[in-house]
Amino acid sequence: MQIITTINEMKAWSAKARRESKTLGFVPTMGYLHEGHMSLVHKSLAECDVTIVSSYVNPAQFGPNEDLDTYPSAPEKDRDLLLSAGVDVLFRPAAGEIYPKGYKTYVSVEGITAKLCGISRPDFFRGVTTVVLKLFNIVAPDKAYFGEKDWQQLAVIETMVRDLNMDVEIRRMPLLRESDGLAMSSRNRYLDSSERNSALLLSRALKMAQEKTKNGERSANKIRDEIRQIINESSQAKIDYITLCDPYNFEEVTNLNGKTLAALAVKIGSARLIDNCILESV
Ligand code: AMP
Repeated sequence: MQIITTINEMKAWSAKARRESKTLGFVPTMGYLHEGHMSLVHKSLAECDVTIVSSYVNPAQFGPNEDLDTYPSAPEKDRDLLLSAGVDVLFRPAAGEIYPKGYKTYVSVEGITAKLCGISRPDFFRGVTTVVLKLFNIVAPDKAYFGEKDWQQLAVIETMVRDLNMDVEIRRMPLLRESDGLAMSSRNRYLDSSERNSALLLSRALKMAQEKTKNGERSANKIRDEIRQIINESSQAKIDYITLCDPYNFEEVTNLNGKTLAALAVKIGSARLIDNCILESV
């Protein structure tokens, strides 16, 4: 596995692979890898001739009071994991490579970025789309792999790719959970054992919502209230939002019909956790 830290070298590597008619799979991450990330990597390895994984904690997507400075990192462990999986390139650009002095250009998707996570994190999606667009220009992948753990982010990236006629196929991958239901996330690292117990309420609440829907409940208000009650069982949990909405335009629904996204963001201790699931009503 090659470790590449400069944009020029990454571009040259990709150009050579393309000349050799290889299909390029790309998995962008912020490092501190877990099995959720690795499920994307394995899919790329299975579907593409070569796989590039990037690891870059993107300052543009963090707000002023967020965890940019404390974001967990384990570069050696990440390298070993990717090496043993059979990844071709780990692209780990230095900070100044992506946003050099005098940097001025940002890309943003309108409308859907103002909802859900966009309310409490107003610059987050602009940071994500900017860095993803830059990484796509650098790596020039055929397919790029993203997790439904970050459902809204995925919808925003799909919208950017469609609207800007970009030649990359976005591959959606399912959310991976720990055996007790907790959605895998690098930020779980922030939780102490009592906070981690509280964090289990998120997946428990979503499971309850799925069961209620299966048993015929169609009132979004009722389901939302019950989710809130479950989360509020812990005094450590501070709800940012709980939404039952259309999975693509994120408009709130009142009556469940077809596919509804149940999504939530909850702060527990210093960790802001997100989780989601699809509620299916026929
Ligand atoms: P991050 O390093 O948190 O920016 O995540 C990098 C990629 O891994 C994103 O596409 C995430 O959606 C995906 N990802 C993170 N956690 C999970 C998970 N638990 N299951 C599936 N994909 C995930």
